[in-house]
Amino acid sequence: MKSDAYDVIVIGAGAAGLTAACTAATLGARALVLEYTDRIGGTTAISGGMIWVPANYKMREAGLPDELDAARMYLRQLVRGCDNDSRMMAFLARGDEAIRFLDQRTSVKLRPVRRYPDYYPDLPGATPGGRVLEPLPFDARELGRDFALLRDPLPEFLLFGGMMVSRDDLPVLRRVGQSPKAMWHTAKLLARYALQRLRAHRGTSLVLGNALAARLLKSARELGVEIVVNASVVRIDTDNGAVNGVQVDVDGRVASVRAHRGVIVATGGLSHHADLRRDYVPAAAGDLSAAVSSGAARSGVHLAHELGTQLSRPSCGIDDALAWWVPVSQFERKDHRRAVFPHVVTDRAKPGLIAVNRQGRRFVNEAVSYHEFVRAQLRDPQQAIPAWLICDRKFLWKYGLGRLHPFALSVRREVEEGYLKQSRTLEGLATAIGVPVDAFCSTVRTFNAAAERGEDPEFGRGADIYQRHLGDSDHLPNPCVAPIEHAPFYAVAVRPADLGIAAGVVTDEHARVLRGDGSAIRGLYACGNDMHSIMNGAYPGPGITLGPALVFGYVAAQHACGPINSESSTAKPWTSVLEERQLS
Ligand SMILES: Cc1cc2nc3c(=O)[nH]c(=O)nc-3n(C[C@H](O)[C@H](O)[C@H](O)COP(=O)(O)OP(=O)(O)OC[C@H]3O[C@@H](n4cnc5c(N)ncnc54)[C@H](O)[C@@H]3O)c2cc1C
Repeated sequence: MKSDAYDVIVIGAGAAGLTAACTAATLGARALVLEYTDRIGGTTAISGGMIWVPANYKMREAGLPDELDAARMYLRQLVRGCDNDSRMMAFLARGDEAIRFLDQRTSVKLRPVRRYPDYYPDLPGATPGGRVLEPLPFDARELGRDFALLRDPLPEFLLFGGMMVSRDDLPVLRRVGQSPKAMWHTAKLLARYALQRLRAHRGTSLVLGNALAARLLKSARELGVEIVVNASVVRIDTDNGAVNGVQVDVDGRVASVRAHRGVIVATGGLSHHADLRRDYVPAAAGDLSAAVSSGAARSGVHLAHELGTQLSRPSCGIDDALAWWVPVSQFERKDHRRAVFPHVVTDRAKPGLIAVNRQGRRFVNEAVSYHEFVRAQLRDPQQAIPAWLICDRKFLWKYGLGRLHPFALSVRREVEEGYLKQSRTLEGLATAIGVPVDAFCSTVRTFNAAAERGEDPEFGRGADIYQRHLGDSDHLPNPCVAPIEHAPFYAVAVRPADLGIAAGVVTDEHARVLRGDGSAIRGLYACGNDMHSIMNGAYPGPGITLGPALVFGYVAAQHACGPINSESSTAKPWTSVLEERQLS
């Protein structure tokens, strides 16, 4: 640390924390970010980087229709209590402002994803795209030496050990060998990657959440935010009930650092903190998480709770659980560390896959959102945990399955490790995964009979635009349905995990942390997954954690630093405003 006093101290260097720090610095505040790990970016850096902000101005610019009233109507049907939540109102009212601020004042550049439907697209108020923004691709060379500080994406989502693939490139890569255009595009991507690897430890064309984290890191540097990694906050300090700094352990030395305007907790929430997490998820869900673990770090929620703050009300039912779910398969990386593969968008909705339970029967429309897939598992945990994703050779080659990429020349390692079950017959596969043979074969036969016509009368795969969007648009008549008939057959076990826990510190609409009696603790803010989510455990669409993370990171810093008019070029940073006040 260059100083023992700052205006704003942010704990945690993910999307929420870095947004807060950049906003504060833009307003003229001296901002310090304390990050527990040795890398910047947290779960944000391994995420899809989708950012949900209804009726944002980028949509309007792109000619995509949306209204806040429509978003409100949509959310009302999915999010418990959202009509009475002042934070939800603030999110809707200020989302556009936050995005505009970042766009104009930082290197965080976003664009609307034209086609990415909300997750319940048939509900009134849903949109087929544009509510979700994505970061523009980022050239990591702009980070210079800081590139080494940026957390890497999940290795399983990289090609050739270091090449990121954008959402737009995926379908093109799948067509390689079928069209000269796809061949040419792929050749260009590979050549670019090869050149990049001559100079860097991985590809420097960043997309998705890694591009978002990189853009935030670059912005923080440009704005003079001080970032300290390997910094463990031991305690948040108060004076007369107001937060005025933290105790931080850096290299074994505990130092007091003062914060004149506020401390903002943004440590990514409770995913890996079993003591609090268990109050918010059903026991059957277990403790797997796809979020990044920060080892022994105490979460911002714990740090804030010591000051008597209010936490989310416990809730462990399936319908009121406070988690965003994703089915994951488990495996061991080369370094022998246990890891999970989140089955978010790459396989479940593609044509030629079904999921079966312990009875060898289907139990869910496999193409629904990852959140809904796990909710179906949790409704019948005895039978559906684990569930098995089933496909055939043709599917595996074309789409991959879990950590297995498409076009894998050999699956020997995955089979030997037990990750992938394989058999030349359906009967053999049923035996390998321990489900009743007759029931399993009958399930596949029944599915195949209708799948020949592109139909799934039992569960309706491909019934809405969200499912079809995640299917294979080249596969007709139904992008989500094809028979499973080309031996060998394959299976991977999936279990529930969280992408984030929606429970945390209770805040008001300014992201101020509240005490048990509802009063705000002066100088203490929470954002990102440390904050009790405005979505209350619902998952309405892509980007509903990063959207609020950016917006409330911005809101927290704005409140801490005092009001400014972000549109006005005459706006003064709060520091100079204060100085002037003192002079007058
Ligand atoms: C595979 C995957 C894909 C996803 N895709 C999307 C998506 O497309 N859109 C979306 O909205 N959401 C997505 N999510 C969820 C989303 O990534 C997270 O909800 C979001 O990144 C949380 O942001 P955050 O700033 O709260 O926390 P993080 O990004 O996790 O950052 C928290 C930081 O705080 C640090 N920290 C922890 N404890 C301490 C401490 N005591 N002191 C100091 N630092 C500490 C952590 O090391 C970390 O760097 C995805 C999640 C996963 C796993």
